[in-house]
Amino acid sequence: MPPSRQTISTTCPYCGVGCGVLARPNGGGGAGITGDPDHPANFGRLCSKGYALNETLDLAGRLLHPMRRQPGGGFERIGWDVALGDVAQGFARIVEQHGPAAIAFYLSGQLLTEDYYVANKLMKGFLGSANVDTNSRLCMASAVAAHQRAFGEDVVPCTYNDVDVADLIVLVGSNTAWCHPVLFQRMLRNRKERGAKIVLVDPRRTVTGQEADLFLPIAPGMDSVLFSGLLVHLADNDGLDRAYIDDHTSNFDAALRRAREIAPDLQSAAARTALDPDLVLQFFDLFARTTNAVTCFSQGVNQSAQGTDKANAIINCHLAAGRIGKPGAGPFSLTGQPNAMGGREVGGLANQLAAHMRFDAASIERVQRFWNAPQMATEGGLKAVQLFDAIKRGEIKALWVMGTNPAVSMPEAGRVARALAKLELFVVSENMLSNDTVAAGAHILLPAAAWGEKDGTVTNSERCISRQRAFLPLPGEVKPDWWIVSEVARRMGFADAFPYSSAADIFREHAALSSFENAGTRAFDIGGLASISDRTYSELVPVQWPLPAAGARKEPLFSQGGYFTPSGKANFVFVESPTLDATVSAEFPLRLNTGRVRDQWHTMTRSGKSIRLAGHSPEPFVEVHPRDAARYRLKHDGFARVTTRSGTCVVKVVVDSGQQPGSLFVPIHWNGSNSAFGRVGDLVAACCDPVSDQPELKATPAAIMPVDFKYQLVALAREPIDFPASTLWVRFPGGPGIGYLGASNEDPSRWRGYMPSLFGLQAVLAEYVDRGLGIYRAAAFLEGKLHGCLFVAPAESASCAAAGTRASLPLPFDFNMENIPTLSDMPIVCACFDVSLAAIGDALKSDEITDAEAIGRTLRAGTKCGTCLPELRTLVSAKNELHVS
Ligand code: SF4
Repeated sequence: MPPSRQTISTTCPYCGVGCGVLARPNGGGGAGITGDPDHPANFGRLCSKGYALNETLDLAGRLLHPMRRQPGGGFERIGWDVALGDVAQGFARIVEQHGPAAIAFYLSGQLLTEDYYVANKLMKGFLGSANVDTNSRLCMASAVAAHQRAFGEDVVPCTYNDVDVADLIVLVGSNTAWCHPVLFQRMLRNRKERGAKIVLVDPRRTVTGQEADLFLPIAPGMDSVLFSGLLVHLADNDGLDRAYIDDHTSNFDAALRRAREIAPDLQSAAARTALDPDLVLQFFDLFARTTNAVTCFSQGVNQSAQGTDKANAIINCHLAAGRIGKPGAGPFSLTGQPNAMGGREVGGLANQLAAHMRFDAASIERVQRFWNAPQMATEGGLKAVQLFDAIKRGEIKALWVMGTNPAVSMPEAGRVARALAKLELFVVSENMLSNDTVAAGAHILLPAAAWGEKDGTVTNSERCISRQRAFLPLPGEVKPDWWIVSEVARRMGFADAFPYSSAADIFREHAALSSFENAGTRAFDIGGLASISDRTYSELVPVQWPLPAAGARKEPLFSQGGYFTPSGKANFVFVESPTLDATVSAEFPLRLNTGRVRDQWHTMTRSGKSIRLAGHSPEPFVEVHPRDAARYRLKHDGFARVTTRSGTCVVKVVVDSGQQPGSLFVPIHWNGSNSAFGRVGDLVAACCDPVSDQPELKATPAAIMPVDFKYQLVALAREPIDFPASTLWVRFPGGPGIGYLGASNEDPSRWRGYMPSLFGLQAVLAEYVDRGLGIYRAAAFLEGKLHGCLFVAPAESASCAAAGTRASLPLPFDFNMENIPTLSDMPIVCACFDVSLAAIGDALKSDEITDAEAIGRTLRAGTKCGTCLPELRTLVSAKNELHVS
């Protein structure tokens, strides 16, 4: 039980930057949140998501008790003993009847390392299957495979200090400003204070691109061509570090030959990447002459059918130029999730065994001895896409999903959801009572601890292990994931191997395994922490691996070579000339790219609770280039149907010249729980990288067409509403209630008939209908209290927007209206101070507002976390361009 009001240092549960957070519990289930000034990832800074964590701690919608699906549907509450017994007996029965290949775990980069460790140990050492994969497969499996091919082990060479002292920061396939905001601020500080240059290579001109000194709008999927061209340029222009190549690498000549085949000269590199040759030359020259160059890459590289080759093409250039193993130099994979790296350390991927060991005979035997395991998996298991395909074929019969939502996030997510319904045993460990995966037919729900309640460790992008500490009590019957897995293991007869009474017990064992018969053969070695006391674990400060030897100075990794290959040398990798597997056609002439928005996280189960965060991007949307908008008759702020071979969604249209012609972008966050027709995962093709089996989430062939709605609607309710099936709706948080934005073709007068199904038969209605103007407004009262309200008005009229504003509400509304984002407020640009785009637009009319700082002085926008500063600068430069023209 955490101390009730003491300030606790913990770690943010969102992105891979891994910022330190100070939480001050208020004794009522909430907490004050600030950045931890002593954490080396953020030194006190947080982004908009981090600062809004205090708005996500309530128990609304939480799963608080073990539940079991009843024969007729619905769930019944059961005790822990029954639930754990059902899970243990279910898995044992299926293993006995069908063998270990018929069971699987699907884990999450949100789990703590200790949770990951016990799940991986149970499956790979005691149930005899390696079918343990994770949503991190969708995030960074290509970077893992590239590290292993080049370095012999999944080791990220760089740290955030390198970003601070680099003179050139190349960002590839990364909207860093939105997806790693605090790290991006470190980059901007470096530029401001030291003059570092920032280059972005990305098909989309994102907010990050607006900030870059040089932006290369590369053709989708052609990163390997660009970096092959760079390798050729380095070779032909005296840019190689011959000493480093000779002393510390293998296969350079063959890799260079391959690079010449792919991009023999600058002109061909420019032609294949669809880039201006002058831009390509500027980039190549900048890289060639800058010793301190860091290349940061993330999902635009990894989430690709050529992701591993893209990453290796980048790494090849760093090895060739000797831009690695020095301060401010190296290829730097930025992880998406808070503990993707911890999962990798544990081995929580189907093709890893444990502690950075793979499925070679010696490692299997070593781990078997360490665990004293009775039934070791002897080969790799099914990776995410393969795993859900095997469920569809009926080969996997029992699945345990922990802390993730594959019915939303997997490619062809609708197909995945339907496959889940076939399972004989489908167990979900979750924070939330309902999500698309639970709705897909889960049999047993196990209530797992959420952020603020969990206790353990996470590892961020720079190999820094930090503590996530509990600062709230476990609510209801909620338990930590490691406890749940260990209890199941005990009930399966493995009590001796799962004796843990705390996360510290597990961490010590994990640390001991990392150094077991290691002798320098594996970089991941935290054996120095294997004997720490409970107290030291409790007080553990952030620590980076590999741990330095006692008294030794910490050198950059690979400064003296020392790679983890049999030869000790890094491998140059022959990359393939890229082709886009998912080819466009007359039927699907566009490419669908997916990704994140600034203020939401994954499927929004946590970030979606924050009113402040909802205002930045309140609705799912598709970004299209103006040329495509004209071609397909799409209106900015209208609606469009995006279709692929596997699914369809209907979303708002955003016309944006930062998008390339022929490409669409739709965010990943909306799903069946928070929207109708907003599930983009249904549309994404299950096309994987051949090396990493990471699915391509950036280039699915797609078609688009306009969709017209005659009416807009706004609703506020105390409980979720079931709209008529044809209604387009999206949910956002509304203080103690729920807000909805929507669109419909139903005549307003028909809503009268729907009201009982929306707000209940007992509701007393106060209604206003104007058939001539096409307006319907209603308030539903229960026991004299306002229960909900609905406003419908013509799509093109201002009256619908007005209906949603506080000022126009004609009712004694007792929702916390001050906190409800309204149509006229949205979008919110500064989440910290609720500053809307409209307010900034008004401020920009003044001649005195000439930069982002002036907006801050006037409206406070951008003066707290700074996450919106790139957007403010973009708005100011748009104004300045307008004045110039
Ligand atoms: Fe959390 Fe933001 Fe830091 Fe990422 S950058 S860890 S989301 S505070």
